[in-house]
Amino acid sequence: MPTIASVTPSMQLKDKIKALNEVSAVLEPSTDQRQSLITEAHDFADTFLNKVTTMPTYSSASVDRDMSICHEAVPLHELLDLFKTEVTQKGIQPAAAGHLGYIPGGGLYASALADYLVGVTNEYAGVHFASPGAVAIEHAVLDWLKSVFRFPASAVGNLTSGGSIANLIALTAARDRHGVKSAMIPKSVIYLSEQVHHCIQKALRIIGLEDVIIREVLLDTEFRLQPEVIAKAIEEDRAAGLHPFLVIASAGTTDTGVVDPLRALGELCQTEGLWYHIDAAYGGFFILVEQTKALFEGIELADSLVVDPHKGLFIPYGVGAVLVKDKAAVMQSQHYTANYMQDTISDAHPLNPADVSPELSKHFRGLRVWLPLQLYGLDVFKACLEEKLLLTQYLREKLTDLGFKVGPKPDLSVSYFWYPSEKENPNTFNQRLMDALMADGDVFFSSTLLHGQFVIRIAILSFRTKLETVDRAVKMIERCLAGMLNEG
Ligand SMILES: *Cc1c(COP(=O)(O)O)cnc(C)c1O
Repeated sequence: MPTIASVTPSMQLKDKIKALNEVSAVLEPSTDQRQSLITEAHDFADTFLNKVTTMPTYSSASVDRDMSICHEAVPLHELLDLFKTEVTQKGIQPAAAGHLGYIPGGGLYASALADYLVGVTNEYAGVHFASPGAVAIEHAVLDWLKSVFRFPASAVGNLTSGGSIANLIALTAARDRHGVKSAMIPKSVIYLSEQVHHCIQKALRIIGLEDVIIREVLLDTEFRLQPEVIAKAIEEDRAAGLHPFLVIASAGTTDTGVVDPLRALGELCQTEGLWYHIDAAYGGFFILVEQTKALFEGIELADSLVVDPHKGLFIPYGVGAVLVKDKAAVMQSQHYTANYMQDTISDAHPLNPADVSPELSKHFRGLRVWLPLQLYGLDVFKACLEEKLLLTQYLREKLTDLGFKVGPKPDLSVSYFWYPSEKENPNTFNQRLMDALMADGDVFFSSTLLHGQFVIRIAILSFRTKLETVDRAVKMIERCLAGMLNEG
């Protein structure tokens, strides 16, 4: 093997270049080498996928082998072995069918293939000039989202790394449309629910709005926003000389999965001239299902909307989306040019993805959404989403049979349950039950606090979660509960 040590300062320029090439050429494997690499990677993936519906979902084991970069070449099989034991067998397995915690998605194989092709071709999806085809695919996905959520074709959008950055882009546009800066900051008011995803609060802080007045308005008994409460607060705030400018609703909250009353809030914002933002990162795609689509009536009234294809479309992590009606507001915060980019500017083409986002160079995310949608057709996704709704119902029924209490009839596929222990403080009992579920690990749940009450969450959204998975979950819960009730 040629090494860098064979390149000496005394060599002629061309000889040096050739000698360096001898070393660096390994970065471009030959056809045979590619075949052997892809076979190894493919075998690894296949072994993983053949177990993915039945494998345990959680392990509390920590990483115990050395993962540091050692500066020497290591064969792929050794690296894959490290990946297998340290990555795919520890923590939560997000691809596993039994992932019923947080908000799962699974990760479609077709998207993994798309990412492979994206990596190989390395298309530059930031500007139209660089890859008109990649940008056309991104726009095709965004146009489809506009049609699903009844946004006008004139709206702008972006495929982001996830819901957090998508929310950040939307909230920045709201800020700029309403001129919330300098002296306006302490007088400006945002209305939201204590149930908004924490990435909203984080985004507000990042974009310099931590000192605006954030009103966490009183929710109804099922944790939904109440438009009349907000209307009254707006009136009072205006009377006090303040500047209400933004209402943030959720279509599927993270804790309990409820959809806020979208139409009534939209009409209120229209009447009052406020920016209306809807975070539908978790729930948005349930608009595609007959049974739930009515909950999304009025979503088209939003000024900005966020959805997460890496949740509701089962794409692997790394793709969220934002739609904003007010193009000028987005451009004000996100559009910059630089001299070195002068060749890329053209009026003839649709907006560049880089004009709608803090990102310039970015992963070509469009393909990982576009490819599965085209490959399978939309009905497959609709069926899968409806299946998740019914599985949630099924699990709630089974839990009730076991003596558990369950939350109110869920809007979507997030719900919660707790055991009404009479011998022990219910919070302590359910915390201990949660610990037992984690220690078991066959299926993974997460927990939350609702008004101080400890509850175990159900979040069924992985495309791999099936009837058998839910039966496994019930068995696990039954076994953990029995263990606790038999303690003595
Ligand atoms: C997941 C989620 C987010 C955050 O999105 P990421 O993709 O994790 O960045 C925001 N809002 C809601 C309602 C979510 O469910």
